[in-house]
Amino acid sequence: MSTIFEPGRSLEVRYGCDVAVCGGGFGGVAAAVAAARSGKKVILLEKQFMLGGLGTAGIVTIYLPICDGRGRQVSFGLAEELLRVSIEHGCEKEYPSEWFDELPDDASDDEKEARLRARINHRYRLRYSAPLCAISLEGLLLREGVTILYGSAVCGVHEEGGRITHIMVEGKGERFAISAGAVVDATGDADVCGFSSAPVEYFKQGNVLAGWYYLLADGKVDLRMVGGAADVPAGFKPASGGSSSSSNPRLPNLPEGRFLGLDTGELSDVTIRSHAATLAHFLAGGKLSDTHALTMMTSTPQVRMTRRIAGEYTLDIAEEHKYFEDSVGLFPNWRKAGPVYELPFGTLWSRRVGNLLTAGRCISVTDPMWDISRVIPVCSVTGEAAGCAAAMVCDGGHLAEADVSALQSELVSRGVLLHE
Ligand SMILES: Cc1cc2nc3c(=O)[nH]c(=O)nc-3n(C[C@H](O)[C@H](O)[C@H](O)COP(=O)(O)OP(=O)(O)OC[C@H]3O[C@@H](n4cnc5c(N)ncnc54)[C@H](O)[C@@H]3O)c2cc1C
Repeated sequence: MSTIFEPGRSLEVRYGCDVAVCGGGFGGVAAAVAAARSGKKVILLEKQFMLGGLGTAGIVTIYLPICDGRGRQVSFGLAEELLRVSIEHGCEKEYPSEWFDELPDDASDDEKEARLRARINHRYRLRYSAPLCAISLEGLLLREGVTILYGSAVCGVHEEGGRITHIMVEGKGERFAISAGAVVDATGDADVCGFSSAPVEYFKQGNVLAGWYYLLADGKVDLRMVGGAADVPAGFKPASGGSSSSSNPRLPNLPEGRFLGLDTGELSDVTIRSHAATLAHFLAGGKLSDTHALTMMTSTPQVRMTRRIAGEYTLDIAEEHKYFEDSVGLFPNWRKAGPVYELPFGTLWSRRVGNLLTAGRCISVTDPMWDISRVIPVCSVTGEAAGCAAAMVCDGGHLAEADVSALQSELVSRGVLLHE
């Protein structure tokens, strides 16, 4: 592959902040809110023009459980708050009344038993409206005093002395820099880690094609899942071949029919195929009419796992119910009732970059755990912890020297449960 030389240039440092949050999905929104509540000046950089990431622009509108499936809530703090914010203007489906509505103090044993059964039968989850959720997340950030910069793609970092001092941003028609005391990488794909000296790992199993969309059918709007609700099943063999090839020789090769999600050409190909699959799915029910309409399709590629930080600790799926002294939150297994995981602080950072944390689907977990930790409620848990920690090190501290018990006390004061 040939190369050309891009001339160096000086960039205007257009903004400055204590904590820069890169990416405005659920992980980034939680991180920004958490850092702002620590009294820090926070800027959130989002390359699109709406918040929520895959959870809104990607039409993944199911807030998966914050309970363990045995009737017990395990994720609290912003994981619960963002669930409530997502339905601020109404719940699309499965309003969790058995979780929201308190029993009276004098409830009988039978009523308490019935309530527990209802909670076991319907996990603490719901479906929200993508556009209303995006607007509500924006309102939340504005109320918390976070500066939102839309149309701002992070495209590089400047490091000095083992810390990121500046972030380079490709804005509308110009490139500029932002000075930051600490940075949270909530890009989903660990873009900031990739630009920095932080070590990263790739999801070598790859992603399969998906194309969720909203359909109006017989007067009702409903979510349709092309590619299925399930995620990459182990041993998956695509029905038709046609793997998407990456033009970037530095990225790993993937099995036939899978895509990584980190290359522009590959993502464009996947997007075009996803559009075709969505259209075919829609047309199978007939052409556009008063009662049959495709009302919303994704505006961002539906990728599940791509790249993550190789952090100080890498959490595995076998570590259910394991005590971690440095736990910064709890989360359940959305796939099955029972397992609960403590989130070790070390999954969020690497000592190579002393003021960089990750939040959302790019934290440090093994491949099997990745499928459990990447979902919306867990992104909120990781975001809250990352935002609080970023606020603690933004004045020159290093994460390796962070006072973890002070961080834990702060999280507990915000309602987060750390240990089972
Ligand atoms: C098909 C599919 C179905 C799923 N189903 C569910 C489900 O039912 N329930 C569930 O809970 N989860 C589900 N998930 C997973 C879940 O949606 C995501 O993992 C989760 O929303 C990720 O949140 P995040 O904040 O980590 O990242 P993202 O939502 O990916 O957000 C990252 C944000 O960063 C922005 N960004 C990226 N790079 C840059 C950059 N360089 N500069 C600036 N901004 C940048 C993006 O535009 C985006 O807004 C599904 C995922 C897929 C693909």
